[in-house]
Amino acid sequence: MDVFKFGGASVNSAEGVQNFFKIVQSYKNESLIVVSAMGKTTNALEQIADNFFHKKNDLVQKQFEEVKAYHFDIIKALFSKENTLSVAKIDVLFNDLNAYLQKPASLNYEFEYDQIVAYGELLSTTIISEYLRQKGVKNQWVDIRRYLKTNDTFGEAKVDWELSRQLIPTAFTFQDTFIYITQGFIGGTSSNLTTTLGREGSDYTAAILANILDAREVSILKDVPGVMNADPKWLPDAKQLKRISYQEAIELAFFGAKVIHPKTIQPIREKNIPMHVRSFINFFDQGTLVSEASIEKSAKIPIFIQKKDQRLISIRPKDYSFVIEENLGPIFSMIAKHRLKVNLTQNSAISFSLCVDNSKNIDKLIESLKENYEVRYNDNLELITIRHYDSDSINQMTEGRNILLEQKSRDTAQYVLECN
Ligand code: ASP
Ligand code: MG
Repeated sequence: MDVFKFGGASVNSAEGVQNFFKIVQSYKNESLIVVSAMGKTTNALEQIADNFFHKKNDLVQKQFEEVKAYHFDIIKALFSKENTLSVAKIDVLFNDLNAYLQKPASLNYEFEYDQIVAYGELLSTTIISEYLRQKGVKNQWVDIRRYLKTNDTFGEAKVDWELSRQLIPTAFTFQDTFIYITQGFIGGTSSNLTTTLGREGSDYTAAILANILDAREVSILKDVPGVMNADPKWLPDAKQLKRISYQEAIELAFFGAKVIHPKTIQPIREKNIPMHVRSFINFFDQGTLVSEASIEKSAKIPIFIQKKDQRLISIRPKDYSFVIEENLGPIFSMIAKHRLKVNLTQNSAISFSLCVDNSKNIDKLIESLKENYEVRYNDNLELITIRHYDSDSINQMTEGRNILLEQKSRDTAQYVLECN
């Protein structure tokens, strides 16, 4: 059995769904297909959740109608007039969401977020499953929330591996079914409340299912030919990497390469399942193989990763106590409490700097730090990471730029730079 993950960009239009159908139809093995929300639907639903929570009812209604219209444009292009059954199934989802939005919001933002945002994946998978059925391709739609169990940290739920290991095999038996379609990104608590695994979490879903079901391989379908040595939208002459190790993939994802979600590798590495990152447009091209074997040293080329919208925060204890011994613990628990993603840290005796993704929680962190620390920060920065760096690649990235912080290890050089 093989696991596939189709991202939002691959199914953002009727043509995308038709392309999906062609790939699935030509595939000859048992497959479990994980799909994310169509196009930018998750962002749109995020807005709705936000406005719903803040009781901006007019905006909620307007945005709901927009999301509905976007999906119905696709549906109209895909489904024949006679196929009222499929359209009715999709209508039920929109009616449910609409009914939810008419009720008063609870006081838990993350909870409301998950209940609303999950509709993106429920809609995309229903549309796709129904389309395949209309085209005569038998498939089973699975509501993954009943099987992929998580705790109740809404917005970034942790997988309950024990429960999921018991339940997931009961849903995907492959007895009378050759193709399963299910949702990425979402799960459910043991009391069946909807949760999400964190933004871009569908790759992770694919990896979890592959691990639990002992898949033969995983394919992540992308709008790029594979893993590249840089985002081609940023560096147009980026080259494709043919083969990378699990470890390299984890490092790349951690440093911010968007092509793979950081949590994806661990579950497939544990079972030694090979993963292909390949294009959904040229599906039969080779793509990038992620597996145990590492690349030859000579084949290593510099890999560039850019993270925008960074903030550099410098913290100095007011009482001049040492950072490492006395303050690192409390500083990191504050960071964890505000759920910030730290990309780089550096310290001296009495000062500590960290580079973090910008988010509204940073100001809260800075406020709480100010009690015991002097805090300074710069914003609008970018973090450039170079794996397997050499002097040419460093020059290419830093020449003429103002470097606020740099750090080098044997394999990796990182620069916090002012934006030009
Ligand atoms: N639809 C979700 C998101 O956009 C999950 C995913 O695409 O992986 O974050
Ligand atoms: Mg997506």
